[in-house]
Amino acid sequence: MNLFDVLTANADPAAPFLERPDGRIDSYADLQVHTARLANSLTALGVKPGDRVAVQVEKTPENLYLYLATIRAGAVFLPLNTAYTIRELDYFIGDAGPRLIVCDPAVQEDVEDLVDPMDAKVVTLDGLGQGSLSDIADSRSTSFATVVREASDLAAICYTSGTTGRSKGAMLTHGNLASNAATLVELWRFTPKDVLIHALPIYHVHGLFVATNVLLMAGGSMIFRPKFDAAEALSLFPRATALMGVPTFYTRLLAQPGLDAEAARGMRLFVSGSAPLLAEVHDQWRARTGTAILERYGMTETGMNTSNPYDGDRVAGTVGFPLPDVSLRIADPETGAAVPQGEIGMIEVKGPNVFAGYWNMPEKTAAEFRPDGYFITGDLGRVDDRGYVHIVGRGKDLIISGGFNVYPKEVEEEIDALPGVVESAVIGLPHPDLGEGVTAVVATGGKGAMNEEAVIAALKDRLARFKQPKRVLFVDDLPRNAMGKVQKALLREQHAGLYS
Ligand code: ATP
Ligand code: MG
Repeated sequence: MNLFDVLTANADPAAPFLERPDGRIDSYADLQVHTARLANSLTALGVKPGDRVAVQVEKTPENLYLYLATIRAGAVFLPLNTAYTIRELDYFIGDAGPRLIVCDPAVQEDVEDLVDPMDAKVVTLDGLGQGSLSDIADSRSTSFATVVREASDLAAICYTSGTTGRSKGAMLTHGNLASNAATLVELWRFTPKDVLIHALPIYHVHGLFVATNVLLMAGGSMIFRPKFDAAEALSLFPRATALMGVPTFYTRLLAQPGLDAEAARGMRLFVSGSAPLLAEVHDQWRARTGTAILERYGMTETGMNTSNPYDGDRVAGTVGFPLPDVSLRIADPETGAAVPQGEIGMIEVKGPNVFAGYWNMPEKTAAEFRPDGYFITGDLGRVDDRGYVHIVGRGKDLIISGGFNVYPKEVEEEIDALPGVVESAVIGLPHPDLGEGVTAVVATGGKGAMNEEAVIAALKDRLARFKQPKRVLFVDDLPRNAMGKVQKALLREQHAGLYS
């Protein structure tokens, strides 16, 4: 098998695949041509099956074709966040040992300095899809015999977002990606008639695998945008049927006065994931458009694990049910034993979607799996009596203060409801008496500090004493990483000495 063949098996060559930012349409026949030329180029550049192809370039159709061509050639695609600096790149390249690096022409020389030319070649692709790689591709044959691979062979190494520490390279196989796409096409009812607004980055699993693979496997088409712009996305609704986004997409769309039921009429599906969608945003969206956002939960290591239902209640603040081929359980984080129904514990998953391990980290891989094969996600959650999964936060963000567990999300929700608060991050900091002191970092959106005592006082009747923050710090905005996730590890580091 080969993931490429699985994804393109249903495609009608004459059907549209992608609308470029300049309005030109690429058909599925064009997809075959572009990926054949690029796969032939990779081969000519010395890339062999199993070799890594590291890619840090702007989001263009050529970048997407490069992903598919790498899979076709049997090599391993390794996308890198465009926000990473050359110093960060040094780590990823050193760790992954790619045979080929595709980068922006602006950083070509710096990248070449990082590698031995005997080990890796460096070629370029710019924001218009031009560069030395496309020059090579232009003169290559338009046919390529897709390389046969096993379901257990690697298709990609994707580095995690680095929210809790240094990014790890998750090894994803052809079988992982094919099975997850097939499950989601069915669950979310994608067909050739679908037109997806594709505005997510493609260096991350959400835009690369969830959005692209699902759409491809269904034989649908996409309106491809280099980045998300709320006004533009709204203007595309009449021509589209689906949008996949991170929660910020929806917050920004809600700020558009034109967003209403009429504007969203032809859109059959809005999907959100990668970070928690606030229940308030979910509710506002439903009130404005008459449709409920479908929230799902996944991670780099596993692809998608759970989803709210297509039919039936999409419940705000939950990530829905385990996917049909995913087994999910809630376990005691220390012992791995099942916790009683409804209680909070570690979310563990098993299924064809679960990755083959962390690249170059056999000990870390072993430590994240239970003996019976369940992967320990690192996320804490519970399953309610209707079977909906609720995520309460990351295990690493859990605060233990005076021997009591404090789940940051619960405290954050109370703080966020106070007037003047834009959002908050509740963290545990080393405390001489309590072990960890509950600490709130409150974003006021540039309106300056609020009264610390007043905030603490406002929470007195709303939270048990051990959950109340000992200190409240004020910032303009919370620090976020390149995927838009709040960096609690950084906050803990910055304020480590607060109670000493
Ligand atoms: P690292 O593992 O390097 O610290 P990361 O976990 O943020 O970074 P990703 O794989 O991009 O890297 O993100 C997966 C995580 O995102 C999940 O483990 C979960 O914490 C969070 N997440 C994804 N979807 C949702 C959701 N719908 N609700 C809440 N959290 C979500
Ligand atoms: Mg993670």
